[in-house]
Amino acid sequence: MIVTKRANEPVWTNIYAYAQLPEELRRLDELAHNLWWVWNPKAQNLFRRLSPELWEATEGNPVTLTRQLSSEEIAALIADKSFTAELDDVYADFRAYLAEPADTKRPSVAYFSMEYGLTNILKIYSGGLGVLAGDYLKEASDSNVRLTAVGFLYRYGYFTQTLSPEGQQEATYEAQDFTQLPIEQVFEADGKTPMVLEVPYATHVVACHVWKVNVGRISLYLLDTDIAQNSEWDRPITHKLYGGDWENRLKQEFLLGIGGVLLLKKLGISKDVYHMNEGHAAFMNAQRLVDYVEGEGLPFDEALELVRASSIYTVHTPVPAGHDYFAEDILGKYLGHLPDRLGISWHDFVSLGRECPDSNEKFSMSVFALNTCQEANGVSLLHGKVSQEMFAPVWKGFFPEELHVGYVTNGVHLPTWASAEWQDFYRKYFGEDYLKHQTSEDTWAKVQQIPNEVLWETHQSIKLRLVEHIRSFYGEKWIRNSGDPETTVSVLEGINPNALLIGFGRRFATYKRAHLLFTDLERLERIVNNPKYPVQFLFTGKAHPADGGGQGLIKYILEISRRPEFLGKIIFLENYDMRLASKLIAGVDIWMNTPTRPLEASGTSGEKAEMNGVLNLSVLDGWWYEGYRKGAGWALTDKRTYSNQTLQDKLDATTIYDLLEKEIVPLYFNREGKPYSDGWVQTMKNSMNFIAPHYTMRRMMDDYFDRFYTGLAARSAHLHANGNKIARELVDWKRAVASEWDSLRIVSVEDSGNSSNVSNERYTGTHETIRLVLDKASLSCDLEVELVDAREEADGKLRLVAKTPLRLVEKEGTKEVYELAFTQSRPGLYKRAIRIVPTHPELPHRMDFALVRWVAL
Ligand SMILES: *Cc1c(COP(=O)(O)O)cnc(C)c1O
Repeated sequence: MIVTKRANEPVWTNIYAYAQLPEELRRLDELAHNLWWVWNPKAQNLFRRLSPELWEATEGNPVTLTRQLSSEEIAALIADKSFTAELDDVYADFRAYLAEPADTKRPSVAYFSMEYGLTNILKIYSGGLGVLAGDYLKEASDSNVRLTAVGFLYRYGYFTQTLSPEGQQEATYEAQDFTQLPIEQVFEADGKTPMVLEVPYATHVVACHVWKVNVGRISLYLLDTDIAQNSEWDRPITHKLYGGDWENRLKQEFLLGIGGVLLLKKLGISKDVYHMNEGHAAFMNAQRLVDYVEGEGLPFDEALELVRASSIYTVHTPVPAGHDYFAEDILGKYLGHLPDRLGISWHDFVSLGRECPDSNEKFSMSVFALNTCQEANGVSLLHGKVSQEMFAPVWKGFFPEELHVGYVTNGVHLPTWASAEWQDFYRKYFGEDYLKHQTSEDTWAKVQQIPNEVLWETHQSIKLRLVEHIRSFYGEKWIRNSGDPETTVSVLEGINPNALLIGFGRRFATYKRAHLLFTDLERLERIVNNPKYPVQFLFTGKAHPADGGGQGLIKYILEISRRPEFLGKIIFLENYDMRLASKLIAGVDIWMNTPTRPLEASGTSGEKAEMNGVLNLSVLDGWWYEGYRKGAGWALTDKRTYSNQTLQDKLDATTIYDLLEKEIVPLYFNREGKPYSDGWVQTMKNSMNFIAPHYTMRRMMDDYFDRFYTGLAARSAHLHANGNKIARELVDWKRAVASEWDSLRIVSVEDSGNSSNVSNERYTGTHETIRLVLDKASLSCDLEVELVDAREEADGKLRLVAKTPLRLVEKEGTKEVYELAFTQSRPGLYKRAIRIVPTHPELPHRMDFALVRWVAL
């Protein structure tokens, strides 16, 4: 028989055929590789026009899109005069934007962060912290600031969320193909060899490739350890954001801080101010110290003065448990070589990360940050106060409210988060250059003059787009996944663009209390099933893969959403990311936020809603504590509070139902025959006029300059002048004072008020004199001596009531006499003592050198 069928196994070769863009369209590639398009609707429209289907299919990735164009499509584009004209127009805008010179009057900044949320297609962010950092870079570009940023290019980034039919969250990590992203690899000077940055850990060297993201005029450099040179233990360092164990986290933070500073050095970049976005980046100061000590031969203490004077640390976490701590042994494994290079002992090095230097506390990244940065700040007024409490143990002898820890309230990048329709609206009614004046209430006040129907139509068109998106995008997905097309169809048909639509989207961390709305299901059922006044809720959010509680919550909400009485009224949308966020925060009528106070450090999604005339209903926490205005949104009061969280949750839930039933729903549907409610639109106007201008990223960036950067740069230059003269003087002074401090002796304290029979009773209106005699012995510094009154609060904590300086009235040899004459004016129970601190005109604040001597009266 003849063999009539035979074949060997095929061996396939992978061929990637990328569209070769002809000369006429090269500019598209240039545009695609600068994220400027992310906040320019005109540029996005241009890419969408290339192929609306591919734009959707690639989730708006112009790099993959342009590579997938067929030769016929390319030929057609070149022949299309209106297309080339549009390209010319966008490209001209882009070049004009880039051509504007940087603002050299403001100090330059190096900015380090573990994550950046710039666009959905660059999966190097997980949530709020990253989006904030991404918005910051975009604003730095718009404000023409000289800023360079460093972060990681994660192979797997953060996970994509899918939900099983049972409501279980499934996390998938997809490898990013770096060649398909709007980024560029950085090469050595020859322009061919990929740049390799070598980062010396204690035992071995880790090599990284370097990538660059053009964020308008700003460069963001990303480190990548997933390369052949590295061992299988080191390649995963940059695999996942917040994945892996503590050891991997330490390796990451070492890489970010140490590697980041080494990279800037290799690139020849030096800045006036160094900003760590969260404690993850704190090791940047370890490397900067090494550079001063090894590179310039400075003693450690002098190096520390210089590093501190140019550094700021922003904390985003309101609870100590949220900070990173490393055990001493594992720290030694990776950083054991650093003390030698710094000329200090291991004990001294570890002490920089401990509240009590001589303890066996774990090494805290935030304490290390505080000890190596002159300035520190929280991210809202309330969080600034919470941070002062949290960090009080680092500076013993002071009250939390005395600490230098300040705040800058987070903001959002207006052109990123205002949808295209609103941007057109602002341009039309606020003026072409409205972005220049975006932080002024006067700019936004113009909204008060616009007819209500114009605002409403703008809002409603965006809402309709959101509804369409849910129907098409989620509809397909749900029908595919659920096996129950009938239910899906009824959910989709149930979505009603005329209903009051309330959105809730955030990480499903327990403190965010996504469950709050479901406290009283009967009451909720009545609210959503009122046929005259329909109300619908959209929920979305991811839970960290290790957070079982958060995942349980998602499951619970999904279950409720599938009950007949809630079907189509409460809808859960999976995979909350920047793309969904931008549709959601602009398309709903109300954005709801119900965190446990005071655990929302700032929150920014509600600010994004503000940029779109969407009203906030939120707990008075984070930014809303400052942002809320009567008649411009709704707040859950902070007045009544229970220490029992269950009671507090019940109270807050009741408040939400009350607000909905008595204020929000009636206002929304009070239409008087029109398609909208005048009262509602007026509330939108108030919110845009009085709230929006204060929560833009422009305002936040200006605050960082005004409150921190400008002062830091000036002081840093001052310390550096004349071969670091002032820095050296300060070191000498601190060294002398520290060693002589204990020789300070209290000779006598007299308090004329003590003459009464019962020495600690006083009468208001009586005059008193306090006289303190000191012997400074060998101590040569000037002192500040003050009378401190404090009060014990109900929570058992001491609060500062007043401090009044004593005057130096006599000096003889080493003896000094201080006096204070005053009238007892405040009645009540207090605690009183005298506090002595050393003082020097070059200290930026007391926490910079916090020696304290308390003296009893
Ligand atoms: C803005 C944003 C956040 C942060 O919002 P919060 O108000 O802090 O919860 C989180 N995730 C995504 C995708 C965002 O766009």
